Amino acid sequence: MASDDCIFCKIRAGSIPGKKLFEDELVFAIADIHPQAPTHILVIPKEHVASLWELADERLAGRLLFVAAELAREARLAEGWRLIVNTREHGGQEVSHLHLHVLGGRALGRMLSART
Ligand code: 5GP
Ligand code: ZN
Repeated sequence: MASDDCIFCKIRAGSIPGKKLFEDELVFAIADIHPQAPTHILVIPKEHVASLWELADERLAGRLLFVAAELAREARLAEGWRLIVNTREHGGQEVSHLHLHVLGGRALGRMLSART
């Protein structure tokens, strides 16, 4: 179920712009609009799942993780990269549609944040 006022549902549907770097039947990926590293990709389920807390579909969980790693390989992040899933308010989640941050292309700080 899509949420009418959800920015990632709108990008998925094409009603607001966002170039898809990857798409299959379960997930899609876009470049983050405010990149925190040379590579900053968001891997997003097509279905509106509010956060990791609400994720009940194990196959979708696996697909999200696998696509994140595949996109890191495509971006040639062999020196290392980071996966971040901010979850709910105290986890720093700003967009309430589950997304995985793939960050790389520079040495990342030790802080556990998408904003390192
Ligand atoms: P969160 O803090 O929820 O984990 O991360 C949300 C991310 O979505 C932020 O890194 C932010 O830059 C990104 N973002 C927010 N709005 C848009 C948008 O309209 N397009 C794209 N490509 N990224 C967005
Ligand atoms: Zn949504």
